[in-house]
Amino acid sequence: MDVFKPAEPILTRLIEAGYEAYIVGGSVRDYLLGRPINDIDIATSARPEDVSALFSQVIPVGIEHGTVIVRHDHTSFEVTTLREETTYSDRRHPDKVNFVTDVTKDLARRDFTMNAIALTQMDALIDPFGGQVDINHKRIRAVGNPAARFNEDPLRMLRAIRFSSQLGFAIEQKTKTALTESLALIDHVSIERIHVELDKFFQGVYLHEALMLEETEQLLLRLPFFKEFTTVMDDLKRVKRAFHSLIDALVYIGFRHQNTALKSVYEAYRLSNVQKREANMLYTSLTCYQSQQPLPLIAYHLTPQLYHRFTDLADRLFDETLSLEDLTKIHQQLPIHSKQDIALSGNDVMQLFPERKRGRWIGHILDQLEEKIITGELPNQREQLKEWVIWSYPIEKKSF
Ligand code: ATP
Ligand code: MG
Repeated sequence: MDVFKPAEPILTRLIEAGYEAYIVGGSVRDYLLGRPINDIDIATSARPEDVSALFSQVIPVGIEHGTVIVRHDHTSFEVTTLREETTYSDRRHPDKVNFVTDVTKDLARRDFTMNAIALTQMDALIDPFGGQVDINHKRIRAVGNPAARFNEDPLRMLRAIRFSSQLGFAIEQKTKTALTESLALIDHVSIERIHVELDKFFQGVYLHEALMLEETEQLLLRLPFFKEFTTVMDDLKRVKRAFHSLIDALVYIGFRHQNTALKSVYEAYRLSNVQKREANMLYTSLTCYQSQQPLPLIAYHLTPQLYHRFTDLADRLFDETLSLEDLTKIHQQLPIHSKQDIALSGNDVMQLFPERKRGRWIGHILDQLEEKIITGELPNQREQLKEWVIWSYPIEKKSF
């Protein structure tokens, strides 16, 4: 099958060396759904050290769990040794991983039937848990006993609702019952794993439908930040389309609740410094927009890469909104794009006040010039800027 062509050389190599090899997981599910596939994951009877010996470019990412990344033709493949798992007493990692030779055992450890289908090199499907039937019925069904599976790894509950948001599938009745009875277990799951799933949840094409589900509400209301607001679900139920990411959803909720203590949320979800900066910029720009600050100032201070995320959030939060095209046009018409573009430098400012020592006052004057140039109050012309500074800051003024 064409979509799996890039994995052919890896499968062939493993099989020719005498091992079993299959394509497994999300790519098989998405292929059966006619959706574009993401990463191709491979399961094999070869042990990680055998896989490492067979390929020249191997990254040992999780040897203890049997996983290595094989790079081939600029593409990465996760190659995992067939395994079964014992209990997860820390609710993060299985206590022990047993390598096995039977692919069915490996499929049995997977979360949902739609994710527990293997594809052979000869294009045959190995589907011991009825994954294809469930895909056809748009059903998310746990493999085996749902309560036991959620107990083993409670993150699977969140995965169930993120798949319903991505695929528009319903959660099968027994799986749903087990989920609603196991909700409290989510407290044991690490925030990093929750972050990954929530991020995919908020990007789902069927986010609105998923947010209307009772089980989504119950689960979200147990998660950090979401549980702090009694009305958060009312806000979320108004959401009609996917967010750019979890971060944008957090900014949206924080803004609706006028929650300025976003810092604690960023910490709770372990955002990276780049993500924190993005969230802060988006939040500040929304506040400026709400208080009707001049649009050129918003366009100037916000990184253009964030324009589409800002206009998307503004569209959700305010009646009168700004289109991405308008904001881009405003950006193109800005007289300056950074402080360096100001026609008067810090040194120039100093020379206007030979008596004064270098200090913060220079930056303060430049800030004022910057704002006045952006809003069109002053042209970006040296002589006029000089004149304005001299006029605004008479020499005899002691402090400015
Ligand atoms: P996506 O397309 O979003 O990557 P995916 O199904 O590939 O979806 P991954 O998180 O990449 O999801 O996991 C790959 C496969 O590993 C899954 O399809 C599933 O078979 C198995 N899996 C992942 N997480 C779990 C889990 N917590 N419990 C059991 N099986 C899991
Ligand atoms: Mg995947």
